[in-house]
Amino acid sequence: MDTTAIFKISYGRLFLGSAYNGRENLCVVNTVAQVTQEPMKVSVTILKDNYTCEIIKKSRKFSAAVLGEKANLEDIAHFGTLSGRAMDKLEGYKIRRDTLGNPVYSEGCIAVLSAEVCDVVDLGTHYLFIAELKDAENLDNARPMTYAMYRDFKSGTAKQPTAGQAAQTEAATVWQCSVCHYVYDGDIPFEDLPDDYVCPVCGKDKSYFVRM
Ligand code: FE
Repeated sequence: MDTTAIFKISYGRLFLGSAYNGRENLCVVNTVAQVTQEPMKVSVTILKDNYTCEIIKKSRKFSAAVLGEKANLEDIAHFGTLSGRAMDKLEGYKIRRDTLGNPVYSEGCIAVLSAEVCDVVDLGTHYLFIAELKDAENLDNARPMTYAMYRDFKSGTAKQPTAGQAAQTEAATVWQCSVCHYVYDGDIPFEDLPDDYVCPVCGKDKSYFVRM
């Protein structure tokens, strides 16, 4: 058996936060996944030794902020490698609280989920938490940072996009006239075009354009 095959599974990167009885912490995980649609539930697996895991076990709730590809690698190293037992990892960072009272650090993040734990499975070294989504918010349309991307950025095999490059990616989103199928290809981002812009082919106004 070649166990490295398991590294081919794609994961996201998320800041996971929880608070209980005056104690709170944030860590970085790659194991959040949606498990059901109705009601919408997610799962997350965390090492039992992890301080955030200990807090979630008691609070039965957590926030999960989905990292975008431009997220600061130093922030990931800070929340992902230091232990909240030895220090206050949140100090000095712009932390807010979600509707469940969980700490959220959303710099460089593209979405935030808030969930309440409904089931806990003891996996020996880890706990698997199944949690129902109670709140969710989109912050940005940038691409999520996958674990594979993170590894490539860290090792230098791939370059993390700069803010400018990401803006180009967003501007490259295709807008198409729904009447004549003309594809807008101007230099100005479609959203910034004046309201009196019309399709150069069929003359319909901006409202006829759809994002593809
Ligand atoms: Fe048209």
